[in-house]
Amino acid sequence: MCGVIGIYDNEEVIGKIYTAMLTIQHRGQDSSGILTFDKRYHVKKGNGLVRDIFDQYNIDRLKGNIGIGHTRYPTVGEGSVEDAQPFWIGHPFGIAGAHNGNVTNFQELKEELLEKSHKMINSNCDVEVILNIFAEYIERYQEKEFTPETVFKAVKYVYRRVKGSYSVVIHIAGKGMVGFRDPFGLRPLLFGINKDRLVPAYGFASESVSLDVTGFTEIMDVEPGSAIFIDHSRKVFQKKITTKAFRPCIFEYIYFARPDSYLNKINVYNSRVELGRRLAKKIKRQNLEIDVVVPVPDSARAAAIEIARVLKLKYREGLVKNRYIGRTFIMPGDSIRKQSIRYKLNPIKDVFRGKNVLLIDDSIVRGNTSQSIIQMVRNAGAKKVYFGSYSAPLTNPCVYGIDMQTKGEFIALDSTPEQIAAKITADSVIYQDLNEMEQGVRQQNKNIRSFCKACFTGIYPTGDVSNEILAQIERERYSQRKDNGNHTPNM
Ligand code: 5GP
Ligand code: SF4
Ligand code: MG
Repeated sequence: MCGVIGIYDNEEVIGKIYTAMLTIQHRGQDSSGILTFDKRYHVKKGNGLVRDIFDQYNIDRLKGNIGIGHTRYPTVGEGSVEDAQPFWIGHPFGIAGAHNGNVTNFQELKEELLEKSHKMINSNCDVEVILNIFAEYIERYQEKEFTPETVFKAVKYVYRRVKGSYSVVIHIAGKGMVGFRDPFGLRPLLFGINKDRLVPAYGFASESVSLDVTGFTEIMDVEPGSAIFIDHSRKVFQKKITTKAFRPCIFEYIYFARPDSYLNKINVYNSRVELGRRLAKKIKRQNLEIDVVVPVPDSARAAAIEIARVLKLKYREGLVKNRYIGRTFIMPGDSIRKQSIRYKLNPIKDVFRGKNVLLIDDSIVRGNTSQSIIQMVRNAGAKKVYFGSYSAPLTNPCVYGIDMQTKGEFIALDSTPEQIAAKITADSVIYQDLNEMEQGVRQQNKNIRSFCKACFTGIYPTGDVSNEILAQIERERYSQRKDNGNHTPNM
């Protein structure tokens, strides 16, 4: 997953971009970049956390009232700084951008751009392809005058050629800034207005929290298959360009997004509470003898509190997390990842000693985390350990920008909950039912008929994910792991 920010203000924008970037750090910790524009582009990108990349020198250097920021968790790409976003190209006008998602026909487009348009894509970054295709339309087909319609047609051209998921912010030098979401609206993108100005300020962000903390008071979703363009005099134009079935990613609510964010008019925290409530009902039917409910911090906290409440059980924060270690799955390499779970979490022995424990987590992917935690809790003296996942069994890779590993790595592939319990050494594993999971998130916005839940079902909503694409993604992930060993390739 990645995070993207775009702000157009009437004062220096770097402070707001930097602040906004800190609020989406959880969406990617591999690289960060900021690009601003006054009369030219100023760029700083690097591998690492926002707070480590930008020092006072860079902050002072990043001048201008328009800026784009990006935090990356790599999808394809070698994780090198050359692949860090935002990207810019000089022609026509100067076009810069960043995105969140994964372009599934990236290799094909890269070859096509070279063969047909003689454009070399120098990075392994999807957005370089998107920018070149966007630019190609403006360069080749624009009418005499550049108007908002030119921008919308260029977005339409992107929709025609680019497959997969993408929420994009693009700046066109001297013309304005546009934000758009792919036709299925797989990845989130929000638009904010700050009217506390003579001419309002505008912003785009992957999560509403970023716009919240930087003073945007009116916040709305960019609709799927739609674009919002702010021209150089900061007039706003909006257009629905194509209509496909809206299929936002359900995993944003389960795990990725911050609890205080609202995406597609659904609050993330409330979704997790509701998922907890629904899982509690299922657990109740199993008549387990449970003394205490303990969340795996941090994502599972909201659900676990609700589970304890519904089941009328004690809730205890029995696992203490070291806040200064990143998300475990972002750690390089599988063996370091396994160890790092132990460095990251420590049990409070008194909570577990002699108790039957219900551990709650958002999901089980490979099962490494859950197995280590169960062992940890048993070593702390627990009698029985039950494990509840408030999402359904994950069995398929995500091709839309979330690291889901290769197919063979999913512990739930071809295994029943009983077999999974045996593998991760739990006394029992309780998964959320798929339908309950979807209805639980949908409850806050019934206009969404269905979500993307391909990692649970293997049904990819864009309809163009062939076995060949899946095989290619598997190959890329394996080979990158081999070559590079120092990071898990993914979003
Ligand atoms: P695993 O079962 O792979 O050892 O780890 C599962 C844990 O990783 C869960 O606690 C969950 O919070 C976290 N996780 C959530 N989403 C992802 C993801 O997209 N990729 C990976 N690798 N881990 C994730
Ligand atoms: Fe989200 Fe899963 Fe769909 Fe990927 S496959 S977009 S993680 S729901
Ligand atoms: Mg977790």
